[in-house]
Amino acid sequence: MIIVLLGPPGAGKGTQCKRIIEKYNLTHLSSGDILRKERSDGSELGKKAQSFMDSGQLVPDDVIISMMVSAINASDGGCVLDGFPRTTVQAVELDKALDSENKKIDAIVNLQIEDAVIENRLTGRRSCPACGEVYHLETLKPKKDGFCDKCSDQELVQRPDDKPEVVKNRLVTYHAQTAAVVGYYKKSGYKIFNVNADNEIDKITAEVFSMLDGLVAV
Ligand code: AMP
Repeated sequence: MIIVLLGPPGAGKGTQCKRIIEKYNLTHLSSGDILRKERSDGSELGKKAQSFMDSGQLVPDDVIISMMVSAINASDGGCVLDGFPRTTVQAVELDKALDSENKKIDAIVNLQIEDAVIENRLTGRRSCPACGEVYHLETLKPKKDGFCDKCSDQELVQRPDDKPEVVKNRLVTYHAQTAAVVGYYKKSGYKIFNVNADNEIDKITAEVFSMLDGLVAV
């Protein structure tokens, strides 16, 4: 099964993906996470992506497409795509790549949320550089201020692209380029499952699961 999870940065795609992969035994393929790993490994790809990521712009399509197509082909039992495709060029190339492998997208979930809610979510987000656990300054505080609950002496950090000026750029980029991906899928005849992402995390999960359960049962 291949699931595409769409939505602006900060809509909660990562959180929902973790739950989806556990329940349906899929691989989580987050283009942002893969790029961050490439950067921390100091790879050529990571170096190419660095300046785009830090300014909230999209990394060029050719770089992302080859990276994600390889990752998809390596994920045998199916995957959830998180943060990809983000442009219509990426969506078209994804369709072509899947077609050549006799695969197809089984479900498209679109998490919808207002910009103002996202700005608060992202600028308040902090994460543990060791284990990746995510916190929020107001809504998901760690037990000890500024430190990870799981890795006790590990200080939490703010992602460079969660700084307020970069968040604004990421949203501008989203509206300018990524929103068109939904239009592409509608025009291509895909059914898009819209979910209100300004809701309790468990309620969003329940809605997504009930749709996916329907697919699995078919
Ligand atoms: P994310 O964690 O998904 O918000 O991604 C962080 C950053 O990685 C984005 O702001 C982009 O610079 C880059 N990125 C992630 N996915 C893509 C993609 N599909 N296309 C282009 N750039 C991407």
